[in-house]
Amino acid sequence: MRMPRLTTNDPSQNKSLSISDPREKVSKKMVLDLGMSYLEKMGSGHICKVCISYGGSCCSGCEHLSNGVGCTLRNTSCTAWLCGFLKFLLYETGHLQEWNDYWEQVPGQDHRMDFTPETFFIHKSLHVQSLGNLSEALAADLQELARTHSAIGFIFTLREKIDRNIDQFIFYKDDPVKKNRLKRSIVNLSSPFHRFHIALNDYRAIN
Ligand code: SF4
Ligand code: SF4
Repeated sequence: MRMPRLTTNDPSQNKSLSISDPREKVSKKMVLDLGMSYLEKMGSGHICKVCISYGGSCCSGCEHLSNGVGCTLRNTSCTAWLCGFLKFLLYETGHLQEWNDYWEQVPGQDHRMDFTPETFFIHKSLHVQSLGNLSEALAADLQELARTHSAIGFIFTLREKIDRNIDQFIFYKDDPVKKNRLKRSIVNLSSPFHRFHIALNDYRAIN
């Protein structure tokens, strides 16, 4: 689960962590703060709220999850990880590649923990995006789908399918035939997201 928890040193105020080429030394804290600010600004909280209310939290069963406190071991791995819904949001708005490229340079990511050193070098930036309207729209679509579909876990099955298709889309980036097939599949899977698509059209019109 994304669990946004902003620190007082909020890098989103600067809209990015500016990295001057060729490389810059950063602290793990800076990277975590930026990641959390990014998730907050993209509006992940709207989507997580719906997901969690239907029992789909990705933190379920984690030993670092504390009742009433949330995550007690904020780490680079969980911050970098995106579920299918959040991945879809960045995929459609054209920011997924930048997100992936940024986190690929952060060492020591592991399952629900990290071995990331306190300082390290990176050379790619991450620019915080305000996607709150889109997240809200997607959250409303998910809420409606979860309410109206009798199949248990309908939205979570959808989340996994979208996730798989986007991963493959990235994997086959140099294969136009497979890429197009996957793109069509993602369009089909996301066709029930009516509010989201309206918000996306508005977003694309001004970006
Ligand atoms: S699976 Fe996705 S939407 Fe659900 S809690 Fe985790 S990050 Fe949020
Ligand atoms: S460490 Fe556990 S509680 Fe914390 S974000 Fe990761 S999965 Fe969730």
